[in-house]
Amino acid sequence: MISRYRVVIAGLGDSGVLTAIRLAKHFDVVGISAKPALVSGQELGWRLSRPEEWARANWIPFDRFRALDRVRTVHGTLTGVDLDARTVTVRGDDGSSIHEHFDALVISTGVTNGFWRTPDFQSHNEIGEDLRHAHTRLTDAESVIVVGGGAAAISSAAQIATTWPDKRVDLYFPGERALPSHHPRIWETVRRRLGDAGVGLHPGHRAVIPEGFDCDEITGGPVDWSTGQPPSSADAVVWAIGRVRPNTDWLPAELLDERGFVTVTPQLQVPGHPNVFAVGDVAATDPLRSSARNRGDGILAYNVKAAFAGKPLRAYRAPKRRWGSVLGVQPNGLEVFTPKGQAFRFPAWSFDRVLMPVIVRRGIYRGVRDNRPINLTP
Ligand SMILES: Cc1cc2nc3c(=O)[nH]c(=O)nc-3n(C[C@H](O)[C@H](O)[C@H](O)COP(=O)(O)OP(=O)(O)OC[C@H]3O[C@@H](n4cnc5c(N)ncnc54)[C@H](O)[C@@H]3O)c2cc1C
Repeated sequence: MISRYRVVIAGLGDSGVLTAIRLAKHFDVVGISAKPALVSGQELGWRLSRPEEWARANWIPFDRFRALDRVRTVHGTLTGVDLDARTVTVRGDDGSSIHEHFDALVISTGVTNGFWRTPDFQSHNEIGEDLRHAHTRLTDAESVIVVGGGAAAISSAAQIATTWPDKRVDLYFPGERALPSHHPRIWETVRRRLGDAGVGLHPGHRAVIPEGFDCDEITGGPVDWSTGQPPSSADAVVWAIGRVRPNTDWLPAELLDERGFVTVTPQLQVPGHPNVFAVGDVAATDPLRSSARNRGDGILAYNVKAAFAGKPLRAYRAPKRRWGSVLGVQPNGLEVFTPKGQAFRFPAWSFDRVLMPVIVRRGIYRGVRDNRPINLTP
């Protein structure tokens, strides 16, 4: 039964879509997004090396989600919020602005990271063009440097090396080991896998970021190191150094912490604004801002319902370490690591027959229709 309350979800990425799915049965839900689809920020390596396969799992037009049928989606860029009047302002493709009223607002506009996660207004064609461009850049390169020590950098190095075994692939990272926010055991396993794939490992290298460069494109020039080593060169350099910027330009400073992320209580509410919530990478829940991968959407949806019903809210509890997939989908399946460093593998056969159709599309997304492949050929 849909109540008369209207919930506006600002940003329909990984967390926003899941939150909208959970709330659609209970409220009048409006989802606002700069993209006309869920374009996940996950699995950079898979996206770069096999974009058509990646797109089938990670680029899903909103009208394919059965559970979003009741949600009104607005394709536009959020430019402001009036907390007293309870409206957000949205700029459309033609430059005109509209106001959307809310009783509760969920902020899930995520972060900008490199060239693969942006708040830019894009059409389907432009999203496809981005995917194609990055893939072609790597296809044409004989040697590739990946700079960074987190999951995005590691999955890129691993996937490029296994997709194109003839390319020289080198991974440079600043510490003695990569994956500093994961359990140390995970790096031991991942290091072996990278070695098996032929990736050259270069610890102790901290890159100099050229003045004015936002790490938002694949470059071709040499990379200088502030740690004293001579410069390194390759035909293509992928910058995945975790330089994230919150997509909060549209919000007043009173809602943000000193780094521009949305301040939240453990209940994912914005202090002083009980009808405003935040979830996902934009929400300052914990040092790793981990509520997206730990299904903060579930707590958030519960709390929105509880807040309207005048019931007690639940708290989000973050694990201390990162977990999940690191290398991404490989020919022998998908390896996932727990916060304690244990690894388990979905074998390749189960990925297309069980994991994607049953666990992800039916279980997590509650039905995705017409899963036809997306053609990325120009
Ligand atoms: C089920 C699940 C499993 C995960 N598993 C892993 C894992 O195994 N390993 C791992 O490392 N991570 C994992 N993650 C986490 C993932 O890497 C990120 O944390 C997640 O993609 C962040 O989601 P988000 O909704 O906060 O941001 P995003 O998905 O980036 O969504 C933000 C959206 O808001 C839009 N937007 C931004 N600004 C505006 C604006 N002004 N106006 C309109 N729209 C705007 C953006 O274009 C984008 O569409 C997982 C996440 C989920 C949900």
